[in-house]
Amino acid sequence: MPPIHGFYWSPSPTHLDAEWNAFVQSSANSVVIQMHALTDALLDRLQRQGATVYVDLPLFAGADLRVSFPDSAPVDEYGSAMGADEWYVPLCPNNAHVRAHRLASLRSILERNGNALHGVWLDFVRYPARWEVPQPNLVQTCFCDQCLVLFFAHPQREYTVDERMAAINAILNERFDAWVEWKCQRIAGYVQHIRDFLRVQRPDLRLGLFALPWRLTDHNAAIRAVVGQDVALLGRRVDAISPMVYHRLCNRSPEWIADVVEEMRVRSCADILPVVQAIDAPGTLSAAELRCALEIARAVSDQGVLLFDLSAVVRDPAKLAVVREMFER
Ligand SMILES: [Zn+2]
Repeated sequence: MPPIHGFYWSPSPTHLDAEWNAFVQSSANSVVIQMHALTDALLDRLQRQGATVYVDLPLFAGADLRVSFPDSAPVDEYGSAMGADEWYVPLCPNNAHVRAHRLASLRSILERNGNALHGVWLDFVRYPARWEVPQPNLVQTCFCDQCLVLFFAHPQREYTVDERMAAINAILNERFDAWVEWKCQRIAGYVQHIRDFLRVQRPDLRLGLFALPWRLTDHNAAIRAVVGQDVALLGRRVDAISPMVYHRLCNRSPEWIADVVEEMRVRSCADILPVVQAIDAPGTLSAAELRCALEIARAVSDQGVLLFDLSAVVRDPAKLAVVREMFER
């Protein structure tokens, strides 16, 4: 399989032609496309272009599911239901309705567009955190009724305020290691569920997932302890892990990209396909800085590289030129 040279793409109906032209001009061979943006016309274009097409399947985030399933609001270590953080609306990763709904979405995508797809990339495969900032505000979740019942293996029940706080204190003070291990197993277990489903329905599809770009030494091992992503466990269930090494959002140098990718490769048996930041946030990310980040990612990755995202390159001809040069090399 040739290296992936691709974009994360959230197609804009008003800029579709410009985005398509940039995609073609960049010499990209692959795309990860949002599930709601899949149309027959777009998939037909991509197929004629010979592109590899992966669909992004969001799992434990989404304003629409929060409305459909109000009991999916995660509960934090203070006993409070978590609200939206700007665009980010977290969902309890153990909510049975959410889990069933996401699997049903995958089933309907495969029925409708399956022949035009080469893989599925899982997004928001984790407990809540708004991580795309230099110093994330990290809190333990989720202590909703369903999570407490599952963790303690209690019969279905509702917790009073006092009972919930007592349970939270007991978990964080007395059973923290078991709690972290259980969280990682719950996330990996759902990924296994999807793997099993695909093995029966479409064993030819590549299964990947987006991972937080944290090493074990970052934020007190929060990648396991807070968000429940154990890349060793996950790597045995997917073909590829894509760390979102958005260096500028995380206030890191481009060299940090290599550190994250190398650690994930050591810890996981899956292919590691990094996603590099192309967007201007915070401030301007110059074409020269993008080139530097891409060169570092390419040097450390034997799988190729994805860029987040296509629209950032559409708006900036200098970035498009850098990407084309790298993808044609
Ligand atoms: Zn929960």
